[in-house]
Formats: sequence, C-alpha cells, structure tokens
Amino acid sequence: MSALRIARLRKRFGAQEVLKGIDLEIGSGEFLVLVGPSGCGKSTLLNVIAGLEKAGEGTVEIGGRVVNDVAPKDRDIAMVFQSYALYPTMTVRQNITFGMECRRVPRPQQEEALARVARLLQIEALLNRKPSQLSGGQRQRVAMGRALVRDPMLFLFDEPLSNLDAKLRVEMRMEIKQLHRRIGATMVYVTHDQIEAMTMATRIAVMHQGEVQQFADPETIYNRPATLFVARFMGAPP
Ligand code: ADP
Ligand code: MG
Repeated sequence: MSALRIARLRKRFGAQEVLKGIDLEIGSGEFLVLVGPSGCGKSTLLNVIAGLEKAGEGTVEIGGRVVNDVAPKDRDIAMVFQSYALYPTMTVRQNITFGMECRRVPRPQQEEALARVARLLQIEALLNRKPSQLSGGQRQRVAMGRALVRDPMLFLFDEPLSNLDAKLRVEMRMEIKQLHRRIGATMVYVTHDQIEAMTMATRIAVMHQGEVQQFADPETIYNRPATLFVARFMGAPP
C-alpha cells in the first residue's frame, strides 16, 4: 500500500491552471521532496494534499484512503510551515500540547507525547520558555514538536527552513533528515533549494509550471535528467 498517491490532479485559480495533471506515488517511510522555482505550484500541491485547497480534478490518497472529501483535521497529517506560527503568549510546553488539548487527549498521554518529542528534538530545557525567548532554530524545533506529537501518517513541510540563516539551515536540514531516519515517518517536503532536495530526499519531484517534469531518486535526477529544465534547474552538466 502506498503512503501517498496522487493521480491526475488538476487545480486552477480562476483562469490560471496551477496544477496540470500531477501523478505521484510514494511508499511508507519515504522522504519526498517537491522542488522547483517560485510559483511552479509546490505550495498549492502541498495544500491540496493537506486539504487546505480543494482538488479540481483527480484524486489524493493517503494510506490507501481517498481523502478528497475528508477535512484537513481528519487526514492524519501534520504540517510545518516556514513561518513557525507559534502562539506568542504560550510557553513551549503549551504550544506543543495545545493541539492535543483541543482533541481532548487525556493528560497522561499528553505528558508522554510531550516528553517523547522534547527528548527527540532536544528541547527539554526550553519547555517553560515563551517563543520570544527562543532562537530561530529552537522555534523551528518547537514547530516540529507540535507536528510530531500528532504522530501522523504523513508529515508535510512547506519551506520550513527558508527563514533561517545559511549555517542554521544546513544544521536543521541534517536534523530533519536524522529525525526522518529515527522515526521512519513518511514526509513530503517543499523547497526551491536544489541542494536541500538532493541531500534530503529519497525521491524528488521536479516541478515546472504546474507539471512534474521528473519523479525519481536523487541519483537519477542528477545523472539522467529527463528534460533540459531538470538538467539546468538541478545544476547537472548539460
Ligand atoms: P510555489 O509554492 O511553487 O511558489 P504556489 O503554489 O504558491 O507556488 O503558486 C502557484 C501559482 O498559483 C502562482 O502563480 C500563484 O500566484 C498562484 N496562486 C497560489 N495561490 C493562489 C490563490 N489562493 N489564488 C490565486 N492564485 C494563487
Ligand atoms: Mg510556496
């Protein structure tokens, strides 16, 4: 069974067709990177997977279930954005447990989940701080903590590192990669950064103007680009 399957997906905003028939399929535990230049439709595709945008045509399947008509909160996903969107008046602990609170997860279970992700992300010492008392990298870790406590079938990341400086970006890249290995989760990660794509992905979908030009593992993308656009964009020699 595939963790995520997208078939003949189309989406338009008014006169503009933003997704022009996308087909993708990944197995459980894969790290799929959607890469392409700004405006090519990456966020729209991710939002359709999340249910924040409706598909025009085609199907989205998560864990073997067609979710086109399933509300975002019932899709068994968790999303991490580039703006961390932490609640400024809440502590780290409250930020992480807030979602569980809303879903009425019993207290002991909340504590257990919190302890697990705090250890995993090494933020145990930060639990009583407010977001304003954290560095950019720490905030990003808290945002990931909030996704992790949900223990979802699918993690969705939309350029989560683009607000960080170059050095921290490389560090966090490695951290997310390690996290992926450790918990064996399925992740879909949007970036416009070729190096991020090459270093993190088990599979890459290179997008251009609403189409997937190539869907393959990093080595194949680099050594055998399917189109001139892929070759140029991914930086391989022509
Ligand atoms: P990317 O994430 O790759 O930069 P997006 O998916 O955000 O690209 O956008 C793809 C195209 O769709 C762009 O031309 C953008 O202007 C347009 N677009 C995105 N969201 C909307 C919206 N809500 N309404 C109208 N046009 C949109
Ligand atoms: Mg985007």
